[in-house]
Amino acid sequence: MDATTKKLVRQRAGDCCEYCRLPQDATPFITFHIEHVIAKQHTPDDDNLNDLKRLALACDRCNLFKGPNLSSIDPNSGEIVNLFNPRTDN
Ligand SMILES: [Zn+2]
Repeated sequence: MDATTKKLVRQRAGDCCEYCRLPQDATPFITFHIEHVIAKQHTPDDDNLNDLKRLALACDRCNLFKGPNLSSIDPNSGEIVNLFNPRTDN
């Protein structure tokens, strides 16, 4: 991923994690990750993996907790629910 793409993702996110809204300034010793909202393993033949609409800025905790997952089990209802997608969800 080139430096221009990384810069554009950071600017769009306001330099805050797009999942928990933690500002990068709050963790100066840990650089936030540019992550694929839909992990590469789910779209192995996609040639546009680094398209801006596929990327998000995430703090280390959110990115590591989310991993490659797209859904999880709601602890209250027991139902499978989609994880937050910063490109399509409010
Ligand atoms: Zn976060």
